[in-house]
Amino acid sequence: MLAALATASTAGAAQAAPSPGAPVAAEPPSPRPASGGLHARPAAARPAPAAPAPAPRTYRVRPGDTLSGIAARLGVPWRLLYQNNRSVIGPDPNLLHPGQVLLAPAPGWAAPVTVDYTISARYGLPGDGWIAGYHTGVDLAVPTGTPVYSVGPGEVHSTSTEGAYGNHILVRMADGRYVLYAHLDRMSVAPGDRVRGGTRIGDSGNTGNSTGPHLHLEVRKGTDYGTDIDPVAYLAEYGVRI
Ligand SMILES: [Zn+2]
Repeated sequence: MLAALATASTAGAAQAAPSPGAPVAAEPPSPRPASGGLHARPAAARPAPAAPAPAPRTYRVRPGDTLSGIAARLGVPWRLLYQNNRSVIGPDPNLLHPGQVLLAPAPGWAAPVTVDYTISARYGLPGDGWIAGYHTGVDLAVPTGTPVYSVGPGEVHSTSTEGAYGNHILVRMADGRYVLYAHLDRMSVAPGDRVRGGTRIGDSGNTGNSTGPHLHLEVRKGTDYGTDIDPVAYLAEYGVRI
């Protein structure tokens, strides 16, 4: 079930072309940010903590179900369940339809934003505007000032106000991956801070090389530009829908 969902989710995002008028990101990031604005914790390497086993759960809505009832059954707050399934449920959390498949994030994981959004540039989108020749993250078009939350457990590796990514935060996840949140209007964490899914780390914005308000979410195997992996597939492993 999960594999099918993950595939569907990825395919859905892959088909989401930028709609006319939607902000389109153009952000050829420099391989290394200028040192002036980079705040990183000391480079003392520590062994990676053991990765938690992903445990997302799905539930198919039946007649008479309520969101709070399903949430109780899955052992998650209803609000978290709603936020992770907004694209399925729609704007009214009281309006469920039998057959809808809801996905509960693994414990400690959550969506990066809790408002409606469109994908304005998907991962891997080819383009000369990006140094890599393709888009290294996924862009969620949201208004400036939208709260941005950590998608899972980890520790803030660095924050920076410089370069093409504008105000950006790099979080080392408990599984050893890195998640980058870019073009932020405001950052509210510092290197060394511990976060988990749902921890507010800042507000989205339009800083750096960006042509419209959006959150650029990128997942990397290491700290360096160019080590990106598919963020939609990564989050799907933990039951977080993008
Ligand atoms: Zn982007």
